[in-house]
Amino acid sequence: MTKSNNPLFDPKRRAASTQMVHGGTERSQHGETSEAMFVNSGFVYETSADAEARFKNRQPGHIYGRFSNPTVEMFQNRMALIEGAEAARGLATGMAAVTTALMSQVRAGDHVVAARALFGSCRYVIEEYLPRWGVTSTLVDGRDPQNFADAMRPETKVVFFESPTNPTLELVDIAAVSEIAHAHGAKVIIDNVFATAMNQSPLELGADLVVYSATKHIDGQGRVLGGVILGSQELIGGDIHTFIRQTGPSMSPFNAWTLLKGLETLELRVEKQSRSAAQIAEALAQHKKVERVFYPHHKDHPQVDLGQRQMKTGSTLVAFEVKGGQANAFAVSDALAVILISNNLGDAKSIITHPTTTTHQRFDEEVRLDMGIRPGLLRLSVGLEDPEDLIADLMYALDQV
Ligand SMILES: *Cc1c(COP(=O)(O)O)cnc(C)c1O
Repeated sequence: MTKSNNPLFDPKRRAASTQMVHGGTERSQHGETSEAMFVNSGFVYETSADAEARFKNRQPGHIYGRFSNPTVEMFQNRMALIEGAEAARGLATGMAAVTTALMSQVRAGDHVVAARALFGSCRYVIEEYLPRWGVTSTLVDGRDPQNFADAMRPETKVVFFESPTNPTLELVDIAAVSEIAHAHGAKVIIDNVFATAMNQSPLELGADLVVYSATKHIDGQGRVLGGVILGSQELIGGDIHTFIRQTGPSMSPFNAWTLLKGLETLELRVEKQSRSAAQIAEALAQHKKVERVFYPHHKDHPQVDLGQRQMKTGSTLVAFEVKGGQANAFAVSDALAVILISNNLGDAKSIITHPTTTTHQRFDEEVRLDMGIRPGLLRLSVGLEDPEDLIADLMYALDQV
């Protein structure tokens, strides 16, 4: 009685930190504290008439794991509450989320405008796969909103970009580009992985759909793959739900459960990692072997004003260019004792990547340089270690070249 009169009884009135721990939780008859993992593919019905009603959408409830699952639903609802979105769907991987978001919004004859600096597989889907289904695209330098405006056509249905971008942390003005897209009747899909929901709220700035690789900060402990798409009930419950239901890029209940646990500490982790990243960016900028540092809240970032306007912190990632090219970039990575050489990001463990020879090796040198990826560039994903240890590790390694 009194509990239901409490304003905080309404989950929508709780702050994001509270949502991360409680959002979306549905307790079974056992009253478990931590969320239950429902590892089942199917569901049973009391009667044949119930089964019929369920299939005809006249009775709420689950039908089959490809469409929905109680643990996956808890993850989706928690994500929606954190992001301030009406609805969300969990997917098997971040790429399943990006591909589903794009494919559900276009058909043959349509056109997509995307920023050219994209996560490798996102660019692959747009450049290699969409054309097979008759969807053309224009890739633009995302730093200037005017480039998006110039690329728009009457048949443009989607504008897609990341901000900050991988790996050079360039920024796209989300509000300005959303306004341009909407003036042309196109939907804005943003890959918000680098910023996370902690540092940037694209739906508030005008985006229509936000996608995440949950593999990154949402898990944040190197365990599972996952993806999520967030937006209005109309888009998510409509084209996107149907696409998932009929084509099957669904999230596994085990992964959803692991990600629910990840969300409980997302804010703590991202806050500490972002704070450490800012300190590391400053230390790197002062080292004489470092040509340039790329960090959205650092004064040397060419778009620092936009970074401060649209992001709460400069993110958990720092990129920097070592003087002397690839040999010296390798020498720095190979001298690190704490920071690991790997290609994931958003993890509790700090990770360093050499984009030219790994994540972006498939591109021609000319295309890479056009994206700002030079042979001396290293991308650092800052983890939860003591920031002084991380700085000492980097300074030692840089002193060796
Ligand atoms: C990792 C990543 C993806 C793909 O996510 P997976 O979970 O690996 O499929 C997409 N976009 C960005 C920006 C990423 O960092």
